[in-house]
Amino acid sequence: MKNKQVEENNLIWHSGYVTRKHRNKLNEHKSGLVWFTGLSASGKSTIAHCVERELFSRGIRTYVFDGDNVRHGLNADLGFSREDRKENLRRIVELSKLMVDAGILVFAAFISPYREDREYIRKRFKDDNFIEIYVKCSVEECERRDPKGQYKKARAGTIKNYTGISAPYEEPENPDLIINTEKMKLEDSVSKVLELLNEKKFISSV
Ligand code: ADP
Repeated sequence: MKNKQVEENNLIWHSGYVTRKHRNKLNEHKSGLVWFTGLSASGKSTIAHCVERELFSRGIRTYVFDGDNVRHGLNADLGFSREDRKENLRRIVELSKLMVDAGILVFAAFISPYREDREYIRKRFKDDNFIEIYVKCSVEECERRDPKGQYKKARAGTIKNYTGISAPYEEPENPDLIINTEKMKLEDSVSKVLELLNEKKFISSV
């Protein structure tokens, strides 16, 4: 196999002999990034973790990146200003790229409220290994659920720049799938995601 080196800003990208395609073949499934966007408490993490549990039981190599968890470690130095949100996403996307290269089907559950940022994510991936899912739910319902009590804090002004309350959420214009969690039961949402993964040939059978 030819060992390709690509020069960029005087840095050399060293391609290994074992590529993503080889790893996908070994694993018997495609790797890629499934990006869940939507308001806090819309159900992104809940759905992503349930899909992962189902796929894991079928021997598929998966990993879920969860907004809050990443902010505890890798991105602990970042806040919620526009610039910090951008950097938060940039790091997650680059980490996801490496994991996809390593053969993993990655699920990322992030509010990611800005269209510009989501466009950037899509561009960093090739279309055939990226899926965008909009987990849709009204602010009123998310606020009613408020599993972490954050909407209450945002209303009180204790948390600033809170998406849906004091910061905008720009709805995706052309996502691969929309899941409305006010209308759809969790099990049905999970089935919808599995169907899409099957349709896009990430997994062989559902
Ligand atoms: P997010 O990751 O979008 O912030 P979470 O998954 O952490 O949201 O929280 C969503 C909350 O809504 C959970 O407490 C979950 O049990 C609840 N919920 C109620 N109905 C649904 C549904 N149909 N789908 C997903 N979550 C739901």
